Amino acid sequence: MTNTDCIFCKIIAGEIPSFKLYEDDRTYAMMDINPFHDGHCLVLTKAHCVNILDADAADLAAVLPTAQKISRAVEAALEPEGINLIQANGPAAGQTVYHYHTHIFPRRLNDGALLNWGHAPGDMGRIEDVYKKIMAALD
Ligand code: AMP
Ligand code: ZN
Repeated sequence: MTNTDCIFCKIIAGEIPSFKLYEDDRTYAMMDINPFHDGHCLVLTKAHCVNILDADAADLAAVLPTAQKISRAVEAALEPEGINLIQANGPAAGQTVYHYHTHIFPRRLNDGALLNWGHAPGDMGRIEDVYKKIMAALD
């Protein structure tokens, strides 16, 4: 099921470009275009749902193996000092796109990341370089 007004549904449908890392029947993984650190990625459910509250359980179950796959590639490509999986539900939680997604959020020691970290535009060339590194590390 898709939502015609949803930016992530448009990305999954190929109507808006993305740095796609991986997809399977239920999930879609791509680079976040406002990264906090290099390697900040998102895993989406392919089916449109707002967040964890209305997601299909089988879709949610499919997200974690994809998050593991992407996390392993990020680890291999970029060697962060840690990785958080972050998933926001509702405005106070920092949700800004209302289509389910889990952040693969690489960390550096003492990087001062706050949960609601704000969005600063990324450098597309740099994102593409990092994208290629992670793609090369995906198995
Ligand atoms: P959240 O604030 O948890 O809802 O996260 C939404 C994320 O989607 C933010 O980190 C945005 O940078 C990211 N985002 C928004 N639009 C796009 C897009 N077109 N392609 C990739 N990432 C996006
Ligand atoms: Zn959607």
